[in-house]
Amino acid sequence: MRTRKIEPNTYMLTDALVHVNRFLLIGGERALLLDTGYGEESMTRRLRRLTGLPLVVANTHLHPDHSDGNKLFDEVFVGEADLPCRGMPSNEMARSVAAHFKTNTKVPRRIVDKVLNYGLIDTGTEKYSPMPDVFELGGRTIETLPCPGHTPGSTLFLDSAARCVFAGDAINPGFWAFTSPGLTLSGYAELWLDLAARLDGYERIWISHHRHPLPIEWIGAFAAALKAAVPERSKPLDIVGGLPETVHIFKYDDEKFGVIRIFAYPSQMR
Ligand SMILES: [Zn+2]
Repeated sequence: MRTRKIEPNTYMLTDALVHVNRFLLIGGERALLLDTGYGEESMTRRLRRLTGLPLVVANTHLHPDHSDGNKLFDEVFVGEADLPCRGMPSNEMARSVAAHFKTNTKVPRRIVDKVLNYGLIDTGTEKYSPMPDVFELGGRTIETLPCPGHTPGSTLFLDSAARCVFAGDAINPGFWAFTSPGLTLSGYAELWLDLAARLDGYERIWISHHRHPLPIEWIGAFAAALKAAVPERSKPLDIVGGLPETVHIFKYDDEKFGVIRIFAYPSQMR
């Protein structure tokens, strides 16, 4: 696991296998851990080396690469629509893809099961609580904002003092919309354009699957990519089966920020 100091009193912890980031925000009295990754035992040791303060744990959203380590903690805050008691749709999706591979392909079953194991959220005895509006860490306040899209309960975390946002997978140069089939891309673009106004004065967005933050102006390019997506100009991603529709990739080339890829069902491209 790689640890990097990215902002004042803020660390990014990245695992060696899938390179998913978790963030540790340290205040005067408490520290906030955003996401728990796959929950390697080494993570808790690493956290203890970085801070001796009581830990508060929250998920940017409930997907296994962000939340499988929740079981190492007593309580986890999750956006209300992603609470496990709401049914964990990402588990249903993973099981359905696995069933497709077992029935319709020659991929050995034990390989499918092994991969499926990584695709399932496996909760333990931890308690899940709905996301509060703010986390007071002692001299450091982190605000939360709902950002339903990648999952219905996806949440943004705002650090106004550092002028940065922690967004999980809610905004991404390779954005997955198909994980939330009810989402329309134009609706999501509008949500982000509203958020851009709310995020006036912020400079950076830290995301889960990249080493570097996105500049805040990137939101405009992302919204343009979402609005430009149409089924006719997207390509089917045939390797994933067992889902309600074939996932398509739409590639958008932004003059300033380069290629943005949107992974969505054709029915979402409106
Ligand atoms: Zn995700």
